[in-house]
Amino acid sequence: MPDITNVVNTLEERQPYIALKQKVKGEIILACDNTSIAGAMSQRACVYSGARVALNPVTDAVHLVHGPIGCASYTWDIRGSRSSGKETYRTSFSTDMKGIDVVFGGEKKLAKAIDELVELYKPPVVFVYSTCIVGIIGDDLEAVCKAASEKNGIPVIPVKSEGFKGTKSDGYKAACDALKVLIGTKEGDIRSPYRINLIGEFNVAGDVWLVKPLFEEMGIQVVTSLTGDSTAQSISQCHTAQLNLVQCTGSMTTLAKWMKEEYGIPFKKVSYFGIEDLSIALRETAAFFGLEEMKQKAEEIIARETSRIMPEIQRIRSRIEGKRAAIYMGGAAKALTLIKGFRELGMEVVIIGTQTGKRDDYLQISYEVKDGTVIVDDANPLELAELLVNQNADLMVAGVKERFLAYKVGVAFCDFNHDRVVEFEGFEGFLNFAREMDSSINSPVWKAAKSKISDIGHSKTESVPATHIKSMHGNVAISRGMEA
Ligand code: SF4
Repeated sequence: MPDITNVVNTLEERQPYIALKQKVKGEIILACDNTSIAGAMSQRACVYSGARVALNPVTDAVHLVHGPIGCASYTWDIRGSRSSGKETYRTSFSTDMKGIDVVFGGEKKLAKAIDELVELYKPPVVFVYSTCIVGIIGDDLEAVCKAASEKNGIPVIPVKSEGFKGTKSDGYKAACDALKVLIGTKEGDIRSPYRINLIGEFNVAGDVWLVKPLFEEMGIQVVTSLTGDSTAQSISQCHTAQLNLVQCTGSMTTLAKWMKEEYGIPFKKVSYFGIEDLSIALRETAAFFGLEEMKQKAEEIIARETSRIMPEIQRIRSRIEGKRAAIYMGGAAKALTLIKGFRELGMEVVIIGTQTGKRDDYLQISYEVKDGTVIVDDANPLELAELLVNQNADLMVAGVKERFLAYKVGVAFCDFNHDRVVEFEGFEGFLNFAREMDSSINSPVWKAAKSKISDIGHSKTESVPATHIKSMHGNVAISRGMEA
């Protein structure tokens, strides 16, 4: 294995988590799926945050955070998932625990908060999230929720998401466990002999509204999308689907596996991003139902939509071809599908990493990327900043936490996660993505930044020692010649 310190200076304990794809025989072995190393600031969020981002898109639920008010800052605003109906989920509720609740317990306060919220909002379901302090003082969330459920006649579901008890992935599992309580509790509204659920689809910026009509045109009923634009009713009926399509595999494969065991519903891993992956999703779904007419319809949709967007894609491609992209995602599914998307736009991936990837994910990633690409698990900001510079990236695609990190080292940025307001899924969404690549990469601001960098004698290809970035942390921009 190459010495990774030739690519990035980092802590010795972090080095097994970073690899360089090279023209050598043998598989890339990357340490991953572990808790973060103490002393290396992870970009990961806590267990509670994982549960919150996965569950918060349930539109008509009350999402009540049992904990100090700070935890409640994870709200709809960090997961801008759209709703076609109710918008209860956009209001954040907290029991706002104080010192006195920590000393004497917060169970009574929680029970009172649930009763008040049920009276005010009349929700069909209440999710109660536990946070670090609740795990420490030992409030009996299950007992309080059970009593509240009986008293109010609606499901009040505890989400066991104490922030400290694992990684963000454990939060996804806690969210799936909460959803299991609702699934199968209502009769289905069956409108087609062919029914699917879109699992791990969060309707960020309205993505699902560009995907659902494609399946409907094929004669398929989408029972629900989990959890984007879902309701308590649609979730409770989703056991009536015959197939689960799982997009965000990191967060929702647990649920798909459970539905297979519990209801015999098979699942397929898919992506609705990029022409290639979206076409595969439509074809594989038609193949699952086995109808010639449906297969033909899928081909018609793919041909029609591809020819509609292709002229614009080709025009954009000529403007961004050969540009170098860095990908840093929460889960591996998005990272993998982005590699293909960039390939369709003629761009090259030079850095790829995730917060929660597993061994098989990284193996798959290593097969997809070119030699010279850096693969990284659970990166910290210093590593990412240095890699962006040393790998000479033109653009970073990541989440909100990485935005200013990229800007500070003079690299264009695209938010692919929760904060974006433009759809990236479906055929139209891929066109939106291509347009955003073009406007971000070809923005005149980067020319100004580069000229300023060269003014002070740095070239972008020049390696920036990690020690230098470290010493300037909070002011990384200055190390690249930009004003913070
Ligand atoms: S649950 Fe714990 S780690 Fe997560 S936001 Fe709250 S205090 Fe912080």
